[in-house]
Amino acid sequence: MQSFDIAVIGAGIAGASVAARLTQAGKRVVLCEMENQAGYHTTGRSAAIFAPTYGPTVIRALARASQSFFENPPEKFSDGPLFSPRQIMMISRADQTAALDKLIAQMGDDPTVSVVDEPGLREINPLVRKGYASAAFLDHAGQEIDVSALHQGFLRQFKSGGGTVMLKTEVLALAQHSTHWRITTKDRDIEAGIVVNAAGAWADKLGQMVEAEHIGLLPKRRTAAMIAAPHKLGPDFPMTIDIEEQFYIKPDAGRLLISPADETLSAPCDAQPEELDIAICVDRIEKAFDLSVRRIESKWAGLRSFVADGAPVTGFSQRVDGFYWLAGQGGYGIQTAPALSAYAACEILGEAPAAELALAGVDPNDLMVTRLS
Ligand SMILES: Cc1cc2nc3c(=O)[nH]c(=O)nc-3n(C[C@H](O)[C@H](O)[C@H](O)COP(=O)(O)OP(=O)(O)OC[C@H]3O[C@@H](n4cnc5c(N)ncnc54)[C@H](O)[C@@H]3O)c2cc1C
Repeated sequence: MQSFDIAVIGAGIAGASVAARLTQAGKRVVLCEMENQAGYHTTGRSAAIFAPTYGPTVIRALARASQSFFENPPEKFSDGPLFSPRQIMMISRADQTAALDKLIAQMGDDPTVSVVDEPGLREINPLVRKGYASAAFLDHAGQEIDVSALHQGFLRQFKSGGGTVMLKTEVLALAQHSTHWRITTKDRDIEAGIVVNAAGAWADKLGQMVEAEHIGLLPKRRTAAMIAAPHKLGPDFPMTIDIEEQFYIKPDAGRLLISPADETLSAPCDAQPEELDIAICVDRIEKAFDLSVRRIESKWAGLRSFVADGAPVTGFSQRVDGFYWLAGQGGYGIQTAPALSAYAACEILGEAPAAELALAGVDPNDLMVTRLS
């Protein structure tokens, strides 16, 4: 039987990033993934955006703490840059002013954000229908993330550090013996001292396998589709989001990615788009923009998994020794992965978190699994 210091379950961005950091610290790590491809589930289905003004306070802090990694990844991490600029514009109708004001108040005097009126927003995105929106919030620090390069970069780091990836290896059972876990999969059993639960939408299910605490994880389906752009879009064309997150559009390789920003509860599964969500999406998009959607070129859905307060869940289980949670990244798991994995790796290794996390305002109390009890 193969034996490791640490077994990380789930090879999405959460599992790949923490596994890479643990091998860099000299640990013998195995990364178990039930699919035949790492990143098949939520990680491979994201909108690939870095939006430092999006999400709960701790998410914003984790995004800030991740920024330097995206801008200056380690040598040979990826062939090209991980970031390319993508301004984010949140448009507000006259009846949504309260939501706009709330966001402005939260941002304080952040120099990377500003507010524009209707002529200003239509200059930035001329597709916004005349008379639809009265103002918009601009996040100038928004970026497009090369998700594949980020994910593959972590996987490459992991393998070159001696890590073992096991694909088509669904963890079926976990049993604790005095000093180690026995991990049962269809084809083999593995031993490891610590288990890291990075199973995405399946994380609570995995927790229940070992009778760990219930974290109340709720997978929520989000739909996306690709349509033709009405004309060539300039490089400055912004991702444009409804201020109350009812829809968004984003340029994507000459086309437009559109989403109804749905959040439908789901069991953990291989999420698929529903026709109704696509129809709702088209309706909202056609109301807000001078766009007539003739054909959906492609469509997909993925699960964004949240606990009650919308923040990630990290930390060793309080009920089961050697079982570490790395779950609940919701709609922010890509943009926070560099900092969250650094934080989790330090905790797993029993080290103090890097000072830059505190400098960015990351409060560990907002991440700990114990906050949920
Ligand atoms: C439409 C959409 C748009 C998004 N846009 C953005 C965005 O712009 N920016 C951003 O930061 N985030 C975005 N997100 C969210 C982001 O994609 C997620 O937060 C992130 O991918 C979660 O990563 P993960 O590794 O936790 O989960 P996953 O990628 O789902 O990985 C978990 C893995 O665990 C495996 N697994 C589960 N159970 C087992 C088991 N028993 N044994 C072995 N393996 C197992 C699964 O097969 C899976 O591969 C978006 C998500 C969606 C759906």
